[in-house]
Amino acid sequence: MTKHIFVTGGVVSSIGKGLTSASIGMLLEARGLRVRMQKLDPYINVDPGTMSPYQHGEVYVLDDGSETDLDLGHYERFTEGPLTRNSNYTTGQIYLRVIEKERKGQFLGKTVQVIPHITDEIKSVIRKVGEKDVDVVITEIGGTVGDIESLPFLEAIRQYPLAAGRENCLFIHLTLVPYLKAAGELKTKPTQHSVGQLRQIGIQPDILICRCEQSITRDERDKIALFCNLPPQAVIEERDKDFSIYEVPLSLVSNGLDEQICQRLGLSTQPPNVEPYNDLLHRLRNPKHEISIAVVGKYAEHKDAYKSIYESLDHAGIHHHAQIRVGRIQSADVEDEGAECLLSGYDGILVPGGFGERGIEGKLQAVRYAREKDIPFFGICLGMQCAVIEYGRNVAGLDGANSTEFDKDTANPVICLLDEQHEITQMGGTMRLGSQPAVLVDGSKSKLAYGKSSIDERHRHRYEFNNEYRQQFRDAGLEFAGTSPDGKLVEIIELPQHSWFVAVQYHPEFKSKPTRAHPLFAGFVRAAIDRRSGRQLKKFAPEESNTQTV
Ligand code: GLN
Repeated sequence: MTKHIFVTGGVVSSIGKGLTSASIGMLLEARGLRVRMQKLDPYINVDPGTMSPYQHGEVYVLDDGSETDLDLGHYERFTEGPLTRNSNYTTGQIYLRVIEKERKGQFLGKTVQVIPHITDEIKSVIRKVGEKDVDVVITEIGGTVGDIESLPFLEAIRQYPLAAGRENCLFIHLTLVPYLKAAGELKTKPTQHSVGQLRQIGIQPDILICRCEQSITRDERDKIALFCNLPPQAVIEERDKDFSIYEVPLSLVSNGLDEQICQRLGLSTQPPNVEPYNDLLHRLRNPKHEISIAVVGKYAEHKDAYKSIYESLDHAGIHHHAQIRVGRIQSADVEDEGAECLLSGYDGILVPGGFGERGIEGKLQAVRYAREKDIPFFGICLGMQCAVIEYGRNVAGLDGANSTEFDKDTANPVICLLDEQHEITQMGGTMRLGSQPAVLVDGSKSKLAYGKSSIDERHRHRYEFNNEYRQQFRDAGLEFAGTSPDGKLVEIIELPQHSWFVAVQYHPEFKSKPTRAHPLFAGFVRAAIDRRSGRQLKKFAPEESNTQTV
């Protein structure tokens, strides 16, 4: 019998439900259980693929090409269970499915209503995730309890135990217990109200996880428990972590969360093996190197816009025992202030993916700076396209080289629309998406990093390198280090003369894990460490020799 855990959130948004759910998943897997994660989002967009990063942060792409919520990135980084299209549903998708059924006549004669038709559809997508060889499904409900739009989801999970059995279902509610400086104490009232709202709609949480800045005292815990109708041991503290998000699962273990989940669901397992997490935290706390990486993007000021890239840099840092300081640089600022002013001193420069013209010239300046100063450079998707444009304009002699995304009439369209995109008029879910194979060229830095010649990586783009320019770029010294297996699509470019200049058309950041850094991020960070130690040698060598002479 598959067990179900439902995670809801109260008091404020951005409380960390995704991270907490992913941590629970990781702990249950570490106990040997087969876990599947799922997120239900109350907004009406069919998926986040058409939303601006300002609205929604990064769009996380799965192997099967679905464009999903960034919380699925946490799920994949923390857990091993596969994620698919069924792992993320929005209100838009649920309604779309119900309306399609209605048009087909499947509800003939009936009035189609939120209860039971929408709630039945929600229950069916929850059931589906747990169908095959799964011990526990963790379903996170997006939004905050009290929002109008999350009501059908909450009603569906209220109903879920009626068929699945209450003993097979667990409700976990995550709330905020703020510290009021003026009063000098933690405040439990928002938590009481949020649980009160859940209870009004018929959900009594089994476990309450309290996010807090300060430790919750025994008295405060007893008070929360009493007002929220729970035994005190079901109130679990989750204190803010300012060091690393990878501390979260370990702190939940020490507060007994996984133990309690297993008890309540009647799952008998060994204690979790959290050794890999202890090891990675040890590496983070005891770095042997310190480097700085500039991420030059259009949305650099938004902390979630390049979430997986920042995480992947951390993973590479963990891998190399390196502490990485990431400078988030707005590409438009590079245009105003110049690359030298904003980028000098960094040990590596990364230009991430993106859409639209704003900030492109700044990205091109960043690429040029990295290329000319021999600073390790990593271009991702639009970052690769910018590297091609920059090389075309400044090295290959292709005046005004550009992507047709930014200038339809450019004299040198070195980046152009993929063939398959010409007829496409709908915006949602129509890019080249998901996992695609590529083959790597012998002797390239990429092949060295991956240690193999065939790879599969996730894509999300409409434009590509224009093959009409291949020979000109090759003659000018650019290496096509990876292509689609039929050789038609350029997947990786490199500059063999540069210490580390690698740019890829795909998104390696979606396949990096804290315990398994992505090979290209690891290669990039290694090159940055080498540069830093080389620079330190150069910087300190004269002083050292001076000291010796004296
Ligand atoms: N805008 C570019 C394209 O569609 C790059 C996309 C991206 O960086 N994800 O091809």
